[in-house]
Formats: sequence, structure tokens, C-alpha cells
Amino acid sequence: MFGKGWKLYGVFALKCPRCQEGDLFESSAYNLKKIGDMPEHCPNCCQQYELEPGFYLGAMFMSYLLNIFVVAFAVLTYILTTEQFNEVHCILLVAVIIVVGGPFMLHLSRSAWISAFVKYNPDWYTENPNEK
Ligand SMILES: [Zn+2]
Repeated sequence: MFGKGWKLYGVFALKCPRCQEGDLFESSAYNLKKIGDMPEHCPNCCQQYELEPGFYLGAMFMSYLLNIFVVAFAVLTYILTTEQFNEVHCILLVAVIIVVGGPFMLHLSRSAWISAFVKYNPDWYTENPNEK
């Protein structure tokens, strides 16, 4: 159930949304010199990764949502724990997650953004043999 074909698998594995085989990024999120580098096409099914110029500006919305979840998680932790976890700890928790997880969240938000527009279809290439 949580393997290939499941939309969130492609998002979290940072794979091509159409075939879930090809990598969306050229290197790890923590290789900061190449953090935004993506191949033009999926090496497996040739899905174009930049659907239109400036396509990934929209990934900012996904990034915003992810950061809202981080803040909500810290606030919930603050509310549900005792005095040992005070406001300063809450702010530090958010700062550490955002700074350490930032590069990964950038990749994750781009992956979620393109997955919102491209359907999973592993048979696309056999159905469209002349497109490659
Ligand atoms: Zn692909």
C-alpha cells in the first residue's frame, strides 16, 4: 500500500511523479552547491520536470505549508508538555528543524509541487513510444 503507485511515495522518495523511477534531483539536498539542480527530463520516462518557466515558484506554497506544520508541531509539543519545555525551547525546536531540515524541505516542496500536476502512469512510455 505504501509502495510505488502511492502518490506520497513519489513525493517523499523525491522521484519522478509519472514513473516513480527517475530521480528528481541531481544530488542530495545537503550538497548545497547543487541544491536546486534538477535534470530537464526524467532519465526513465522523459517526463519534463519544469512544466513551464518559473514552475517551481509555486513550490513556495508547499514550503510554507511544511513550515506551518513544523511550527504547529512545536506549539503542540509546548502545550502538551510540562514546564520543562518552555517558550525558549519551543523557538529553538522550530529553528533547529528549519535550519537542519531546510534543504530537504526545499526538495520535498518541489517534489510535492510537481506531483500535484503530474499523474502516476508507469505505462506512459509503452503507450507513447514515439514521444522519447
Ligand atoms: Zn519518470
